[in-house]
Amino acid sequence: MNILLLGSGGREHAFAWKLRQSPLCEQLFIAPGNPGTAQCGTNLPLAATDFGAVRAACLEHAIDLLVVGPEEPLVKGIVDTLKADPALANLAIIGPAAEAAQLEGSKAYAKAFMARHGIPTAGYREFTKDNLAEGLAYVRSHPLPVVLKADGLAAGKGVLICTTNEEAERELEAMIGASKFGAASAKVVVEEFLDGIELSVFVLTDGTDYVLLPEAKDYKRVGEADTGLNTGGMGAISPVPFADAEFMENVRTRVIEPTVNGLHQEALDYKGFVFFGLIKVGNDPFVIEYNCRMGDPETEVVLPRTSGDLAAALLATAQGRIAEVALGVDPRAAATIMAVSGGYPGDFGKGFAIDGLDLTPAPSPKERGVAPSLPGRVGEGLVFQAGTAERDGHIVTAGGRVLCATTLAPTLAEAVAGSKQTLEGISFEGMYYRKDIGYEFI
Ligand code: ATP
Repeated sequence: MNILLLGSGGREHAFAWKLRQSPLCEQLFIAPGNPGTAQCGTNLPLAATDFGAVRAACLEHAIDLLVVGPEEPLVKGIVDTLKADPALANLAIIGPAAEAAQLEGSKAYAKAFMARHGIPTAGYREFTKDNLAEGLAYVRSHPLPVVLKADGLAAGKGVLICTTNEEAERELEAMIGASKFGAASAKVVVEEFLDGIELSVFVLTDGTDYVLLPEAKDYKRVGEADTGLNTGGMGAISPVPFADAEFMENVRTRVIEPTVNGLHQEALDYKGFVFFGLIKVGNDPFVIEYNCRMGDPETEVVLPRTSGDLAAALLATAQGRIAEVALGVDPRAAATIMAVSGGYPGDFGKGFAIDGLDLTPAPSPKERGVAPSLPGRVGEGLVFQAGTAERDGHIVTAGGRVLCATTLAPTLAEAVAGSKQTLEGISFEGMYYRKDIGYEFI
């Protein structure tokens, strides 16, 4: 089968690496991809949000399975557009249709869905310019801290945790009145603050049933011991030590099953990944957010811990045959550490040469099935590229989060040590990474 994967980050490099190992995968295309994905397949120079170009690529390369990595094309309706196209009648797609993608695209939609299906989440109210005065009065007397969330997609920046009522009033006014996050904050969800520990749980669903993937915990702050500014993610671990069997059973029965049953009851077209952003309060899970795709950098630990044929699993899911999905879990621990550009998440330079990368390409289709080689491998670890580009035959930095090193090992401590060791062999000007990923558990 021919596969087209949309996206260009470390998540997509991890997907490309995993899909490339499938005996079913004949040709793998990644659009637009990065130099890391080019080691696993063929990069196509088109934007994931250019539906016309994606359609043309599906036809030109006789694509059987389309895997949508990032949320933006999903929320904009790529699945609906391509499924409505008679020329693509046989295309299997991983990703929800636009309405179901509102679980990520609109926080108010997600909260209402959770309320309809009795899924535990923080109490909330929503406000727009039509009831702004009421909203200001509401936050003036709300217990602290209080959480303000722009309804729409805001690149992970649309959530504010206010520690005074004055701040909450000022911010609500800025979000709704002064369009602080553009159209995304025309509506704002104001919710209770939940005090607990966060983790991420992932399932693959065909909208009727589901398969649970390994859970993960990501580290968002730029500084060690979780200090400093928020980033797109500085590292991740899996498994999560506090997600014991009893807690995960609570997650299954109170969160995952009501969600999948809700999708089914509401006849929402959802064939793909659901990412549950959870917070554990006592032993109870609460949903902080839904994402309608895999996370980054969580994918870089979840897929290495997932055993079995991912391409076969995704095809079965997209075709509504989730009962046939046979994925297992590698019992080892995985840790990924992200190397970022100096200055990130603030201003940073680009175009610095990266030294120490293993540029061995993935095995050719003929070699496949002999020994599953690991593209992007350095020593025993895996390196997934994110913000990189190729210039005159050299890989250079091209983004804030540049690359990450993943290691599988018997213990979390060994996995983290392995990823640090991998990164010690790689260098670029201004390179920075957290050395304490997983610190609370080691
Ligand atoms: P991202 O893009 O980073 O996933 P987002 O913009 O979609 O984030 P959320 O995940 O809903 O927003 O919230 C961002 C962060 O704010 C959460 O990871 C969590 O740390 C914190 N947060 C959100 N809601 C609450 C809450 N009700 N109580 C406590 N913390 C919260």
